[in-house]
Amino acid sequence: MRKSLMRIPYTELFPPPVTRPPTARSLPGAVTALHEFFTTPAPKGLTGSTVVLSGAGLSVASGLADYRGVNGTYRVNKTYRPIYYHEFLASHEARKRYWARSFLGWSTLQKAQPNAGHQAVKDLGQLGLVSNVITQNVDSFHHKAHPEIPTLELHGYLRSAVCTSCWSELPRQSFQDELARLNPIWAAFLQEAIASGALDTEDPEEKRARGIRMNPDGDVDVPDAPYTTFRYPACPKCLSHPPTLADGAEGVVEVDRDGAWSPTSTAGILKPAVVMFGESISAEVKRSAEEAIDGAGRVLVLATSLATYSAWRLAKRAKDRGMPIAIVNMGGVRGEDILAAELDPQQSGAQGVRVEMSTESLLPTLVEELRRSKPKGVDAMPAAAVLPFASNTAVFKDMLS
Ligand SMILES: [Zn+2]
Repeated sequence: MRKSLMRIPYTELFPPPVTRPPTARSLPGAVTALHEFFTTPAPKGLTGSTVVLSGAGLSVASGLADYRGVNGTYRVNKTYRPIYYHEFLASHEARKRYWARSFLGWSTLQKAQPNAGHQAVKDLGQLGLVSNVITQNVDSFHHKAHPEIPTLELHGYLRSAVCTSCWSELPRQSFQDELARLNPIWAAFLQEAIASGALDTEDPEEKRARGIRMNPDGDVDVPDAPYTTFRYPACPKCLSHPPTLADGAEGVVEVDRDGAWSPTSTAGILKPAVVMFGESISAEVKRSAEEAIDGAGRVLVLATSLATYSAWRLAKRAKDRGMPIAIVNMGGVRGEDILAAELDPQQSGAQGVRVEMSTESLLPTLVEELRRSKPKGVDAMPAAAVLPFASNTAVFKDMLS
């Protein structure tokens, strides 16, 4: 039996990276190596298209925190421990705490925009060099920046809430409006925090000074906040049509007079449409990610330490298929010695690249260089190279039906 893929945090330290080729330490050297990576024909039997595998570092320039610093440790908040799916399902108190923090974090996330790194991925798509994106990020920035390039969101997305009983989805903004209605004191606090600019600052120190800590999954930590007073809505569909539980019994969905989920309920619990830690990635998403790797000839790993097994195994799969791999990441990467094994020490980028630079400074320069050197008349890649997963929404619909 094939094991399901569970999302779990990885807390080991990674060894420092070895730049490959050695000339890629400088910006011009890195651009030259990546230029060769993209323009050398793919190894025999592989297509010429590249799949991007991205992670949290890509969104740092958009003001979102990374999970890890350059040493691979959780850096935003050393005591931060993400909530596990089983805790979320089991505990009303844990859900209050989660949704209170998420309520405060959502406005910042919603205001944040894709950055030059995402724009460069769009440009690489227009140059016919990138055909698909697999991202671990839940911020929807790839969708916003380049809706035309199919993007698979390996760990789901924050733009929706999803019911854990009937699996119907609700736009996060509607859910947010309900949270504001059910928690007027919190809503007033949020307005105050927005007005004071406490949520706008990208400086974690300043945020802390203002009594707020922002974590990578879009939640906010307010020390000593009375989470236990927080209320959240029930799934509207389950409320009107009680679902059948796994044991065949009819689920109970009850709300208080304002419509907040009541702990007398046995169903109708909404969760963010992300794959929470301790939750398994759906078979459909897993298969689509594997197909994206199998349909490409190269992988460009952007701003991720590949710490989660679901991402690491895709890079390993690419390696096993003989695909050249380029890694752009600040700090070490899980198993990078394995990914770099068997490279000719003399190669200058065609077989693989390892660069320690920020994506938003390197990628736009690379795009410029690729545009300059592009032969006239060569246009975007044939549509056939684009894989048939249009978006995760379709994947989730399949999964939920
Ligand atoms: Zn429901």
